[in-house]
Amino acid sequence: MIGRLCIVGVGLIGGSLAKDLKRRGLCGQVVGCSRKRENLERARELGIIDAYQLDPAKAVEGADMVVLAVPLGAMAEVVTAMRPGLGTQAVLTDVGSAKRSVLEAAAAVFGAVPENFVPGHPIAGTEHSGVEAAVEGLFDGHRVILTPVAETLPEATGRVRDMWQAVGADVLEMDPAHHDEVLAATSHLPHMLAYTLVDVLGRMEERVEMFRYAAGGFRDFTRIASSDPQMWHDICLANRDALIGALDHFQADLGTAIEAIRSGDGKTIKELFARAKALRDRYAQESEIG
Ligand code: NAP
Repeated sequence: MIGRLCIVGVGLIGGSLAKDLKRRGLCGQVVGCSRKRENLERARELGIIDAYQLDPAKAVEGADMVVLAVPLGAMAEVVTAMRPGLGTQAVLTDVGSAKRSVLEAAAAVFGAVPENFVPGHPIAGTEHSGVEAAVEGLFDGHRVILTPVAETLPEATGRVRDMWQAVGADVLEMDPAHHDEVLAATSHLPHMLAYTLVDVLGRMEERVEMFRYAAGGFRDFTRIASSDPQMWHDICLANRDALIGALDHFQADLGTAIEAIRSGDGKTIKELFARAKALRDRYAQESEIG
């Protein structure tokens, strides 16, 4: 049970978390914080938060749990602004999609990674943003990765773990650098491909025809290109080393596939498709089983 919860960034992720904790009676009061009063008013109307503050230092006063749910590029600024109001009882966590950059931001603001800071990342979401996009049950049955470091107090990690488990998440721990590499390959690379594919097709002369005849597969593959550009701009830059590694790897393999097509090397093409199909089938089967 959390006494006072402060959500900084009451959008899709922060709003959905507050919604579920409140709905299940797992927190006393929820205080929201972001830049725009109208968004916070709306969050209050929707019953997602009980009160709000535009000043991060005031918002975190008296909080037992502070969740940073702003875009990655805003983390350092927000942590700097909230610091004077943070009490010693507060556990601080975040939901950012890359972990090393958030740890670096926290270390820069506090001089070292604070012992009550537990970096986290829920592997759940949608392509929609803002408080109106907040939904109940978003984390139910989904993984949340925590990346505590040597400085992190096990008790703080335990409290963050309890919070996520209480909203139905399956919580695991990972090294921050490993998290960033895995997510670069499984999430950040696919977003790059989807954005680039839609952009390439959109700039072709026959654009109207293209989109008219695009089938369900195109729709499935490109759904994530409807995600918020600011958020993905921040993720690409925050996780640039791991993402460049994944993109280089992809580019090399795409080059091999292009060469196989150019030279009519059916064996290589068929082997690639067969390998990928087997992996995709297994993934689909396992993710259905859970
Ligand atoms: P979102 O819906 O756009 O919400 C972001 C919130 O942050 C908004 O309420 C915005 O409100 C506030 N905000 C933005 N800049 C701010 C600043 N400088 N100071 C204070 N508040 C600020 O975004 P989201 O999808 O929830 O993503 C939030 C975080 O979760 C990101 O770090 C992202 O990497 C991570 N994440 C996202 C997903 C996903 O699928 N979307 C999944 C996992 C993790 P105002 O405009 O009123 O300031």
